[in-house]
Amino acid sequence: MTLVPLPAFADNYIWMLQNGSHAIVVDPGDAQPVFDALARAHLQLAAILVTHHHADHTGGVVALREATGAQVFGPAGESIAEPYTPLARGDHAEALGLRFEVFDIPGHTAGHIAFFLPADARHGQAPIVFCGDTLFSGGCGRIFEGTPAQMLASLDTLAALPDDTRVCCGHEYTLANLRFARAVEPGNADLTHYTAHCESLRAHGTPTLPSQLGTERRINPFLRSREATVLQAVRAQAHLGADAAEVEVFAALRQWKNDFR
Ligand code: ZN
Ligand code: FE
Repeated sequence: MTLVPLPAFADNYIWMLQNGSHAIVVDPGDAQPVFDALARAHLQLAAILVTHHHADHTGGVVALREATGAQVFGPAGESIAEPYTPLARGDHAEALGLRFEVFDIPGHTAGHIAFFLPADARHGQAPIVFCGDTLFSGGCGRIFEGTPAQMLASLDTLAALPDDTRVCCGHEYTLANLRFARAVEPGNADLTHYTAHCESLRAHGTPTLPSQLGTERRINPFLRSREATVLQAVRAQAHLGADAAEVEVFAALRQWKNDFR
């Protein structure tokens, strides 16, 4: 089984999971990069997974379904082009003999879902999570339809996954995210090392993704908003008192990132 990010638009990734002669794609905002990848490797498209309704994640769904007959799985709490199989927390998406667990991760959009594929010890495959625009490497999505409390709970859900989970995000935002992360935690040595690693990947035109969840827990300020270093930085930046609730701190951290240049 192979996992590859197909670049689309300026900075989107359409994730493709290949198993033998068949493939699954996640969040095809554009059909053409998928058609090209299928043709290159002589693959048949078995299924399309959609994390949320934004056009840069769904724009290619109809053309791909009509051309290939692939089954579409999407969020029950949002409307995407019918027909599709609506999924929410506790549901599963089954395709290519793989069984994806579904989590609700609202915040970026109201009905955003994640697809989690547990480890396959038999084939030595680490777990995989497709988290759309909720968790990015070094950052998190903007809160468009939900609340900071929802986004924090969604990130907590993702942060509870195993350390070696491969984190498959919807965008290559890593370097910009890490610049902000360093402003929050200038003394974080893991962050310094990870930044150098990602800068060298980008210098060679290589995706920084998938990331690993264990790495994200060490470097991503949005998974670290309860750490003393992050707490202190946010309190000082946003003039919060020592008694500020954790969701207030998280909201202020997200706001700081929105305003960061
Ligand atoms: Zn989005
Ligand atoms: Fe997006």
